[in-house]
Amino acid sequence: MKKIGVLGLQGAISEHLDKLSKIPDVDPCSVKYKEDIAAIDGLIIPGGESTAIGKLICDFNLTEPLKARIKSGMPVWGTCAGMIILAKEITNDPRRHLEVMDINVVRNGYGRQLDSFTTEVSLPALSSEKIPLVFIRAPYVVDVAPQVEVILRVNDNIVACRQNNMLATSFHPELTNDLSFHRYFSEMI
Ligand code: GLN
Repeated sequence: MKKIGVLGLQGAISEHLDKLSKIPDVDPCSVKYKEDIAAIDGLIIPGGESTAIGKLICDFNLTEPLKARIKSGMPVWGTCAGMIILAKEITNDPRRHLEVMDINVVRNGYGRQLDSFTTEVSLPALSSEKIPLVFIRAPYVVDVAPQVEVILRVNDNIVACRQNNMLATSFHPELTNDLSFHRYFSEMI
């Protein structure tokens, strides 16, 4: 069994746990304390509000334990606000959080008019069916280091990318009925 944690501080926690419970060989759990971090094989940082999640990571003294495990190779996946938490650079915010992934993101990148939207994409590497994507006040990636693999662009913006054990997506697969990204992440473990 692969024990996959969902950072349980703020945001779409139960939705990720629910999706993970549908994948064979995955044992999902919520992660809140230092001791929980030692017990998992992989971690999802959910969407929500990056400023709130970032502050709670500090308040719960999770910054160093999380960074240490991620740097030693534990698979981690940040969705939406989680992408911001992983990023080393944020163009329009002075705050930095875990700073582990060599990506430069824009918070609320789609601005007010396109605040939230859904679309569908073909991504044969992950699924033979079309994958629905839900964006909610989403960030996107404006720049990546050469070691970062771009997985998906929507309207020229990078919305999914991977750097070794780290995956970041702008959208919310946990709010759809599609398991492709959760399966992909579990295969990184
Ligand atoms: N706009 C949020 C932020 O900047 C992210 C939104 C989300 O996770 N759905 O943290």
